[in-house]
Amino acid sequence: MQKIEFYKHNIGDEEKALLFKTLDSIFLTTGPMTRQFEADFSAYLGTRFTLGVTSWTTGAFLVLKAWDIGPGDEVITTPMSFCATANIILHAGAKPVFVDVDEDCGNINPDLIERAITPRTKAIIPVHLYGQMADMKRLRKIADRHGLKILEDCAHCIEGTRDSIKPGQLGDAAVFSFYATKNIASGEGGAISLNDQATHEKLLCLRLHGMDKTAIDRYTGLYRHWDMAMLGFKANMFDIQAALLIPQLKKIETYWQRKQDICLKYEKAFRGLAGLDFPKVLAGSKSARHIFTIWTPRLRRDEFLSKLQTEGIGVAVNFRAIHLLKYYRETFGFKPGDFPIAESIGDRTITIPLYPRLTDQEVDDVIAAVLKVNRQL
Ligand SMILES: *Cc1c(COP(=O)(O)O)cnc(C)c1O
Repeated sequence: MQKIEFYKHNIGDEEKALLFKTLDSIFLTTGPMTRQFEADFSAYLGTRFTLGVTSWTTGAFLVLKAWDIGPGDEVITTPMSFCATANIILHAGAKPVFVDVDEDCGNINPDLIERAITPRTKAIIPVHLYGQMADMKRLRKIADRHGLKILEDCAHCIEGTRDSIKPGQLGDAAVFSFYATKNIASGEGGAISLNDQATHEKLLCLRLHGMDKTAIDRYTGLYRHWDMAMLGFKANMFDIQAALLIPQLKKIETYWQRKQDICLKYEKAFRGLAGLDFPKVLAGSKSARHIFTIWTPRLRRDEFLSKLQTEGIGVAVNFRAIHLLKYYRETFGFKPGDFPIAESIGDRTITIPLYPRLTDQEVDDVIAAVLKVNRQL
């Protein structure tokens, strides 16, 4: 059997055409393409503002900065995510406080949040894991009761909805990633979507050194001096990234439908198999279907993983629990047993290929390989 790639991006003729058009234009940095992408993205989500940034990580960090979160503050998040989710809290100088996840879909468990809130708590960062949205209605109620902000980690979820709510609608800010393997991708890149105008204006400034005028402001019209109003950073999306993203965003629902069809096939094939499970898509939800993971028996994952690779299947692990990564263990003294559900998922999870370009034959081959390995173990 031919190797089945873990991921293939969607960049094709339309993306290349817009990229070449951009390369032939005067602007390479943040200019008309970035503005177009930001407007398109806000329109897709139904949010008021979007800012293109260089990654999820830089965008989420800027949001914490815009909210003046820093030393002495605590931010609640989930240990079942990519390490960047918690790292940005540390970069801001605050303390990450983990709350365990639910067993069905691996999202932060709202029942456990209130007991983790202290007078120092400033914000909650839920992750819409694999594309299934966290319970934003309940999280909003909890946050309002305690005066907290919500930063939605939407690295897995652009197309999702839950109870008719989209990412960015109930959170104070939603941050997205366009990293190489994400739902739409430009190699590296990210975006912040939000509804609050004052925060948007502050973020525009923080995104570019704290300057009050951007390159395109200076280019269009007569030169006027810029001033530096605050100590900012350097995180602006540039037009080369935006050119790759604009056509992909237009096709995102078509991509989603293909991913949905593949996921339904996977779920049908794996449902009810002894030893095998997978995260649920909850009633009333549309999962963005970013990642498909299978959950193997606990002590069998690594064996399962290597056998799948022997069968030619590209795989990944999303994710081992953050608090058990070396740096977090050594810095904060976390140990096995601290967040048992996240640890259990982290010890059982294997991500199998899922992307629009996956062919029907490849889907069948992935299923056959999973069934074969499952029988052998
Ligand atoms: C990919 C990912 C990130 C980080 O995104 P970057 O754009 O690479 O900074 C954050 N959170 C989750 C859940 C991710 O999967």
